Amino acid sequence: MIKRIGLIISVLFWLLNPSLVAAGAGITVIDSEVSVDFPSKAVFTLEAESSANIVDVRLYYQVDKMNYAEVVSEGWADFTSASRIAANWVWDMTNASLPPGAEVAYWWMIKDGAGNTIETSPEIMHFDDTRYSWQSLTGIAPPGGNLTLFWYEGSESFAQALMNACQEGLARLTQDIGTYPERPIKIYIYASTDDLRGAMIFPQEWSGGVAFMEFGIIAIGIPPGELDWGRKALVHELTHLVVHQATFSPYGRLPLWLDEGLAMYNEGELDPVFRSYLERAISEDELISVRSLCSPFSAYTEKARLSYAESYSLVEYLLDNYGQDKMLDLLALLKQGSTYDEALTEVYGFDIDGLDALWRTTVEPHTVIASEARQSHPALIAALAALATALVLWGALALEKWTWRRSSGK
Ligand SMILES: [Zn+2]
Repeated sequence: MIKRIGLIISVLFWLLNPSLVAAGAGITVIDSEVSVDFPSKAVFTLEAESSANIVDVRLYYQVDKMNYAEVVSEGWADFTSASRIAANWVWDMTNASLPPGAEVAYWWMIKDGAGNTIETSPEIMHFDDTRYSWQSLTGIAPPGGNLTLFWYEGSESFAQALMNACQEGLARLTQDIGTYPERPIKIYIYASTDDLRGAMIFPQEWSGGVAFMEFGIIAIGIPPGELDWGRKALVHELTHLVVHQATFSPYGRLPLWLDEGLAMYNEGELDPVFRSYLERAISEDELISVRSLCSPFSAYTEKARLSYAESYSLVEYLLDNYGQDKMLDLLALLKQGSTYDEALTEVYGFDIDGLDALWRTTVEPHTVIASEARQSHPALIAALAALATALVLWGALALEKWTWRRSSGK
């Protein structure tokens, strides 16, 4: 039991110990395999023999993704000690969140009772969603990396149109904001939201697209008949992915209005439905304060739409008035762990409330600044902080509420 779940992180010291790697006489590996049962588990199996009883078999693995430190994990295999053994270790993905297309390097360490030790050479496990017959298309992602799009329903021109949208989105991002992908990107186009949910262990009713930033992988449901919607949704997720890679650090995080605002801005022109929400809130003096928009948006559709629209408008305001360099400086400070107020003040000379006031003067030409009374309600702030904690999954995976956005686009 303990062996099954034994999974100890970080055994780097072991890898660096050459005495354990050198020995090996007497132990022979007969077979080593991995079978993937996407998305729930991967089963690693090993057959080996030795002149003495084999007493210890462990699997080591390293997930190919951005990390703050090199991490090697360990699994204790199930087997019965004998001179010839069949061992297996099951990786239950319930806590792993491995996306389709993830790659994992793995190797075995085997010990026998005579003191021999052998370590196999690393092999790669491809955590592919083999339930579908994927086709693929590869293109260049600025400034010179590559982007591969996988799809299984729809024509080649459907895939090419999505590829073009991605490449244009990345080029806009580099030009407008100055960020670009840190590693090759893989995009999995599922033919529907239902198919996408089948690829997730804990599917949310509303999730329509997921960006796995550290892996450089996006999984999204786009039916071939919804190309226009799909282009925007994909560029939106791609922008999240690139911005999060550019600000990847153990210290920093982005206020939600900035994260969503950059993604909305990079989609292109603001959708008329969102613009109408923004205009109505301006005319009725119902804008949400920028400080509130730092935390997860409202679960209510109307407020959520307004939150996205305001986020777009705030990013547009900053880029139009202060330019690309300042935006890059802001992202750099947030990456280093500056608070939102500190970072804004250092780069622009105003904090969150200052941004709120200045931005309102540009969108509300007649009513100038009536925001003081509305913002900083302590109970509200506390509730939002609690909500932020509860929605860790949202932050970790950037699950997007595309379901309602899809219906809004029509
Ligand atoms: Zn988003």
